[in-house]
Amino acid sequence: MHLEHLLTEEQRQLRQTLRDFTRKEIIPITRQLEEDYSLVEKVHQKLVDMGIQASGYPVEYGGGGIHSMTNMAIIAEELSKGDAGMALSACSNTAGAGPAAAVGNKAILDRFAPLFCQGKLAYACLSMTDEAGGADTENPLLYGAGIKTTARLEGDEYVINGSKMWPTHGGIAESYITFCNTDPSLGDDGIAMIIVPRDAPGLTFGKPEKKMLFKTVINASVYYDNVRVPKEYRVAGPGMDANLCYMLTTVAGWSGGVQALGIAERAFDIVLEYTGNRMGGFKPVRQHSMAAGIIADMAIGIEMMRASLYNLAFIYDHPDIYGPIYGAAWSPELIAKGAAARVFAADTAVEIINKGAELLGSMAISEDFPYEKCLRDVKICQLWLGGQQICRYKVARGYYDLKNWA
Ligand SMILES: Cc1cc2nc3c(=O)[nH]c(=O)nc-3n(C[C@H](O)[C@H](O)[C@H](O)COP(=O)(O)OP(=O)(O)OC[C@H]3O[C@@H](n4cnc5c(N)ncnc54)[C@H](O)[C@@H]3O)c2cc1C
Repeated sequence: MHLEHLLTEEQRQLRQTLRDFTRKEIIPITRQLEEDYSLVEKVHQKLVDMGIQASGYPVEYGGGGIHSMTNMAIIAEELSKGDAGMALSACSNTAGAGPAAAVGNKAILDRFAPLFCQGKLAYACLSMTDEAGGADTENPLLYGAGIKTTARLEGDEYVINGSKMWPTHGGIAESYITFCNTDPSLGDDGIAMIIVPRDAPGLTFGKPEKKMLFKTVINASVYYDNVRVPKEYRVAGPGMDANLCYMLTTVAGWSGGVQALGIAERAFDIVLEYTGNRMGGFKPVRQHSMAAGIIADMAIGIEMMRASLYNLAFIYDHPDIYGPIYGAAWSPELIAKGAAARVFAADTAVEIINKGAELLGSMAISEDFPYEKCLRDVKICQLWLGGQQICRYKVARGYYDLKNWA
């Protein structure tokens, strides 16, 4: 029992529905899902049928019109208990129109929103990490100068050149939220967020990356060779685009923190059950005080992660108290709060999952036992979106005038 007084009845129902879904549809086949992407798509389609994908899109396009970070947290947490990669995909696909909806960009919504509301699985892609110096793309101390992909206005079109590495859903997505630079000398005003359709001439993709974790997600390079899109596909314009980029990377990091929470909860359940049955020193392993201390530390980490991550969701969901986040300027303070929750969650999850492995002996790393998946998957929550280092800059920047010292 947790968060009961803070969730609405609908949110409690959503949580229960997704909890049951994960238990029945994902956990029994996690290994097969990692080996067969067609199975992943079948499970995703069931989530689409349940209305998860369309829920984040405006009602006038057939969506659910729900802009709730708390709902997003529930989706990320519950699905991550089964497969965090699938949680990442589901959250990305329901949030694909977030920036355009935030500023009411009708051209983008008209073109892309219906694709996600037709009852068919459709992917969205956040195309951000430049091949050259990926972490620079997300470093707010560089004021956009680290974004190497360029956008040049020619008549009524933007012409985009550059290459991105690792984007989730590269090659399979319908829409590419692309971080570009129109002129590095303009600082934040040079940052452009442009949505590119999959069929834009000049847009090509690399092969799916082979990786040890998040195997249920396709990541592939995205190449832009004089890609032309209508100028209306720039989400907002100078200033606000930078703001939306900072918003999106912060929210994505926070969402990754919630995925770390879900993975840690799964790890905790495995440890609790296994150590209750496995005998050592003539009693169940968890009855030894040294084991109890580790189990307690896992529980403490999970409680604190959940508290800080949902606290942030409630802040985001209560513009009446904390000020609006959609369309409003994102202050360094708000970015710092998001980055703090992500850094804490990712570090805590990695630490407690590693520690919990000690209670499982060699079963921790057996491919026939579910724990090794937790050990593998959780690591990315520290590495992506600029890594813990760039995120710590975001935290420090919320408290004082931190400069880039390059
Ligand atoms: C499963 C998965 C999903 C992903 N999804 C997406 C996605 O949807 N969209 C997308 O665009 N990208 C995505 N990525 C890419 C990911 O966000 C980047 O790999 C990450 O941001 C780091 O970029 P890089 O690998 O180029 O690291 P590099 O730029 O090579 O940096 C390496 C490390 O150097 C350190 N570093 C760099 N600069 C500094 C500095 N100024 N100060 C201190 N330390 C520094 C940091 O520790 C950093 O982690 C994904 C990656 C994976 C594996």
